[in-house]
Amino acid sequence: MIAAADFNITKIERSKLNDINLENIPFGKYMTDYMLEADYEDGEWKNVEIKPYQPLLMAPSLAAIHYGQAIFEGVKAYKNDAGEPYIFRPLDNFKRFNASAERMQMPTVPEEIFMEGMKQLVKLDANWIPEKVDHSLYIRPFMFSTDETIGVKPSDKYKFMIILSPTGPYYATPMRIYVEEQYVRAVPGGIGFAKAAGNYGGAMYATAQAKLKGYDQVLWTDAYEHKYVQECGTMNVIFIIGNTAITPDLESGTILKGVTRDSVITILKEMGLTVEERALNIDEVIEAHKAGTLKEVFGTGTAATISLIKELRYKDYVMEFDTATLQVAPKVKETLNNIRYGKVADTHGWMVKL
Ligand SMILES: *Cc1c(COP(=O)(O)O)cnc(C)c1O
Repeated sequence: MIAAADFNITKIERSKLNDINLENIPFGKYMTDYMLEADYEDGEWKNVEIKPYQPLLMAPSLAAIHYGQAIFEGVKAYKNDAGEPYIFRPLDNFKRFNASAERMQMPTVPEEIFMEGMKQLVKLDANWIPEKVDHSLYIRPFMFSTDETIGVKPSDKYKFMIILSPTGPYYATPMRIYVEEQYVRAVPGGIGFAKAAGNYGGAMYATAQAKLKGYDQVLWTDAYEHKYVQECGTMNVIFIIGNTAITPDLESGTILKGVTRDSVITILKEMGLTVEERALNIDEVIEAHKAGTLKEVFGTGTAATISLIKELRYKDYVMEFDTATLQVAPKVKETLNNIRYGKVADTHGWMVKL
């Protein structure tokens, strides 16, 4: 068993932060000074290292590149008004990461390496956590297979890494969403619930087609009937119909079990809304829109937090939302931000101190 005390730390000589302004930085563009790297070999994790962010040297036969045993997570660190760094619900990401690993026939990562490694890494790069509203430090843990052979089989070797990237607002402007009914993201029995790299590669064509039509993202529907709404890009989706919040349930295994989704469900209930996790047919959404009871649709995810949706299109039917007058999504976002930036009490134990 590896303990945090065994992590090998190599210090940088000069911080790159001296050359970067942390205001309104685009998502994912800059990496911090450090990264974490660990290797799985001979049935165990070894060589946990925190070292200066640097390129990897890889064999062209590297298994992950060919057969896609690759998974990742997205977590965020914030600073409160006193300048103290916190990470939002990292244990939930840890559990989901290992669920993804199992589905992809990859080894699980011990809690000590994932959690303590993340904490130590963020601590070293704490100066990179922006203090502006809607800004944060995005944490990207990931794992990929590293066998050097082009035979198709689960790899014997893997690399687990964590890199960090300071970020500003993700989708700053409200989105236009196209309800997809030709291409599918996931099927029951597939890997839709795993944060596996291939899910994103497989989604890009449909998203590009929607962009050609002027939309920012697709809202996926189920693989059989193309009727039941699933999720959007890298976000779960919530519909406010009357005084009820409806979001697709996780039963079919085709939807990512979002940590933000879970947090938002908790907040919505505290706001007095009824929350239903169930199958939601696009026809029901359209009927609610025609009846005037479809109030809001918004996306939830770590990268984007809450993303307002100003247009939802199904076939030729266009649903528009005046995002200046929304009642629920902005309130949820404010509540979530107040918790994340330490402005209200963290009654759910979501913030993990470094
Ligand atoms: C990461 C992700 C989400 C959101 O999950 P969070 O834990 O809230 O960040 C939703 N859908 C997909 C496909 C994702 O990859």
